[in-house]
Amino acid sequence: MNQTPWTLKSFRDVLKKCIAERDLFTGKSLHALYVKSLLSPSTYLSNHFVLLYSKCGLLVAARAAFDSTYEPNVFSYNTIIAAYAKESKIHIARKLFDEIPQPDVVSYNTLISGYADAGESVQAMILFKRMRELGFELDGYTLSGLIAACRDKVCLVRQLHGIAISGGFDSYASVNNAFLTYYSKNGFLNEAISVFNGMDEEVRDEVSWNSMIVAYGQHKEGKKALALYREMVGKGLEIDMFTLASVLSAVTSLADLVSGSQFHGKLIKTGFHRNSHVGSGLIDLYSKCGGRKGMSESEKVFEEIPSPDLILWNTMISGYSLNEELSEEAVKSFRQMQRFGHRPDDGSFVCVISACSNLSLSQGKQIHGLVIKSHIPSNEISVNNALVVMYYKCGNLRDARKVFDCMPEHNIVSVNSMIAGYAQHGRGAEALLLCQQMLDSGSAPNNITFVSILSACAHCGKVEEGQKYFNMMKEEFKIEPELEHYSCMIDLLGRAGKLEEAEIIIETMPFKPGHVPWAALLGACRKHKNIELAKKAANQLIKILPSNAAPYVMLANMYTESKNWEEVAAVRKLMRERGIRKKPGCSWIVVKKKKHVFVAEDWSHPKIGEVNEYLEEMMKKIKREGYVMEEKWAMVKEDEAMEGEKEIRLGHHSEKLAVAFGLMSTSEGEDIVVVKNLRICGDCHNAIKFMSAVTGREITVRDNLRFHCFRDGECSCGDYW
Ligand code: ZN
Ligand code: ZN
Repeated sequence: MNQTPWTLKSFRDVLKKCIAERDLFTGKSLHALYVKSLLSPSTYLSNHFVLLYSKCGLLVAARAAFDSTYEPNVFSYNTIIAAYAKESKIHIARKLFDEIPQPDVVSYNTLISGYADAGESVQAMILFKRMRELGFELDGYTLSGLIAACRDKVCLVRQLHGIAISGGFDSYASVNNAFLTYYSKNGFLNEAISVFNGMDEEVRDEVSWNSMIVAYGQHKEGKKALALYREMVGKGLEIDMFTLASVLSAVTSLADLVSGSQFHGKLIKTGFHRNSHVGSGLIDLYSKCGGRKGMSESEKVFEEIPSPDLILWNTMISGYSLNEELSEEAVKSFRQMQRFGHRPDDGSFVCVISACSNLSLSQGKQIHGLVIKSHIPSNEISVNNALVVMYYKCGNLRDARKVFDCMPEHNIVSVNSMIAGYAQHGRGAEALLLCQQMLDSGSAPNNITFVSILSACAHCGKVEEGQKYFNMMKEEFKIEPELEHYSCMIDLLGRAGKLEEAEIIIETMPFKPGHVPWAALLGACRKHKNIELAKKAANQLIKILPSNAAPYVMLANMYTESKNWEEVAAVRKLMRERGIRKKPGCSWIVVKKKKHVFVAEDWSHPKIGEVNEYLEEMMKKIKREGYVMEEKWAMVKEDEAMEGEKEIRLGHHSEKLAVAFGLMSTSEGEDIVVVKNLRICGDCHNAIKFMSAVTGREITVRDNLRFHCFRDGECSCGDYW
């Protein structure tokens, strides 16, 4: 290699270059040369060979180099510990750490970060405590390692924050930025703001500004993000693609398509729109704010970018998956990405799995199979969380729970998803049990947990529990109830017949009630036959959503039930005059990967003749078992019958057709999942109960509010819906 005799210095120089360039080939020959040379053993060189091998992922070679080190020093240990930690072999790293005669700050930091990566926050904290007891000076690295280790345990981070401030670390930008980002990511915007505001002007770096813009974006505070961005421009601070992407995400949170496309125009002038990071922000903007039409804009942005990377593909898949009607496109795009040679990562899987929630269980299961075969670690929380949601949304609560139980670790999202699944399936007891287990384990619930819990209580009539949790949320966890929580309470009280209490909440809550609480109240009024309050709720709903037929239909139904034909006619006349059309009820079922849609009184399905025959036979069968058609639903002609005013027989309701089709075209013992765009009607609910008994099948109907899982003549909702 070299004619001049090798000195330690020349070895050192070449090795440094090898490490910087990760040049394993030269590095290995250099190592062989060094071993053969008669130079005195150098700990420095050995350490750097360890470093080289570790950087190139050769753990065994790194260990061999370490073991042959003459007089290993603390740097030798730190290097090999980092190598093991990097390869998730934290226990070996720990053993080596314990062998160090005098570990230094770096040794501690390395192991703490290792524990953080391995998710062993307790070990990280114990080590940190020992470090402080021994009087070590902590540094920025210690803190960022620890913040990472804390994951969702925000109280620990607050403690750390206190320690950082008392240790004078609040003058380090990196430390502040780490806290800022952590608080924002975990939902504590105010704390993020106070970190940012607490930083002196000269302490703040560009990362701080960007992180704050991102934080505003995450919390849908688009205006503040834009203001901060302008301030940044005014100060002449450097704007990079990350800042631009953050601004885009802020505009997206404002759903401000106008400012967004203006900004797009500016980006085109600078050429930044071809940058994958910025392009990804643009796609996100159009797909989140532009609906279906926006997605075609997104496709244009996508095509402009030369050689799209994985992130960009993921943004496209995510864009499609946001729109229920585009779920098929999401799956197509996912497949296309793979054909282009990209290996899906956890982000790709999360999006495509969520798209499958709107498609079918079989497609979801296929993707689950891919997850298992892929390189994604089986403990990847976000993917597992998406699977939990997919399974319960596709009607399979059992597999949702199976995935949940197999997860080595849960975060708040996992628990919230599982509770939401129980809530939507009407399994209130299980939802409450899981919540209790969460509280017992010392994890803190967040605002979303309480939405699920309250809705679980509402779906099964647990009024006292609901009130208990509502109070607990405010008093114990200091979470201010949002509109959604109030809506759940109104639903809960209303369904249980406490209409006055529900009305009081609607009138006294600190939010302007939107359509959700009024619709909940209206539904409750129908259930408990309170026509006066129903009129009030319906009028409010009509004001908020003038073209929505639901309140009219609901009132007409109530008048029909009380045989007040004059009022029925009046409501229908009003609908005609105002040009309000009811959206037709439709149900669909996926059989052998094909979606079959049924609309009441619509005969376009190719097998409709057979379906009707099958259904008629089935109706005879269940009548023999004691099923009686519920007159009131027949008279009301159900929601979809409002349009056209023709007499529709109950037998032709879309959900019955879809269930019949499912039963006749699948084999014995197979479960059936039907989705309906409106609420299931009472007569169909009753009939399907009987059908489940006579066929011995499990039939799930997912309507626009919840799941009904029929088995052995019973429904999971316990008829409380
Ligand atoms: Zn029906
Ligand atoms: Zn039910």
